[in-house]
Amino acid sequence: MDILDVYKNSNVYDLIKKDISNNMVSHAYLLVSDDLDLLKEYSFCIAKQLLCNNDICNVCADCLKVEHGTHTDVVVYPKNDSKQILTNDILEIISSSVVSSSTKYKIYILNNFEKTLPQAQNKFLKTLEEPTENVVFLLLTTDEKSVLKTIVSRCKKVNVHNLTIDELTEIANNKKTSIALSSKNLAQTSGNLTTLNKIIEFPYYVTLKAETVNVFTKMKHSKNMLNYVYALSKYKDILEVLNELNTVVLDLLFIKNENFNISNSLYLSDLQNVAQDYSINALNKIALKIKESIKKIQANCNANFVLDGLLMYILEVKTKC
Ligand SMILES: [Zn+2]
Repeated sequence: MDILDVYKNSNVYDLIKKDISNNMVSHAYLLVSDDLDLLKEYSFCIAKQLLCNNDICNVCADCLKVEHGTHTDVVVYPKNDSKQILTNDILEIISSSVVSSSTKYKIYILNNFEKTLPQAQNKFLKTLEEPTENVVFLLLTTDEKSVLKTIVSRCKKVNVHNLTIDELTEIANNKKTSIALSSKNLAQTSGNLTTLNKIIEFPYYVTLKAETVNVFTKMKHSKNMLNYVYALSKYKDILEVLNELNTVVLDLLFIKNENFNISNSLYLSDLQNVAQDYSINALNKIALKIKESIKKIQANCNANFVLDGLLMYILEVKTKC
């Protein structure tokens, strides 16, 4: 079983299939999930489904071009490695969203749409208000709340169901990876493809995740703080460590806001137990401090020094705020 088989069993496949057969393909779909990599995979499956004349045969020219990312009618933003869709991108989309007579659909895949600044989102809104025939926008988001309501209301919203551990296990077995994934690893993903990809790309991800959670759940006094600094500083990629610390802060904020769309439900009960120890104000301050720490690392500051300052700050803020 690969991602395409999983997709064909999904709620998304059924919905698009129905829209195609009813001649009701929407000009914009908002795909929502906490699993970004799953959204990305599914968006390509949707593109195949719309363009293929044979229910995603995976052998026709359209399917193969989508597969290889070379289809001229399937365009992905943000381009390059920038994490955000910029106003210039939106202008480019507006001017390029013209459909020639030979084109079945022109499909725009807009990743991380929630990170698009409101100004650019507003520009994009105009395009949604006056849709061009046969242009389909796939807006992918892990945080629907950061998408302008006016945009959400003009899209057909699809809550993408998470994968089961069994489905993810099948996908993992199909991937050619250099590391052997244990069943424990797979259980730790909670069916999240993004987490699985991180484990494959970064085999220490599972221990890193646990150690970043420990900072918030187990670190109580400044006298044992150095153990935690040591545990985190052994990772080569300190930016990855800081990003994971930030994920834990976001998870705690989600719990406090009673929104359980959290990134790794494996630690849900641990985090729920300590959420009361941190005020929302304290968590927001910690998030800012993490941002500051990321800048320091990017400016080549010593990792131990930065982690030391950050963990001390976490302890201080927890008691003071
Ligand atoms: Zn095909």
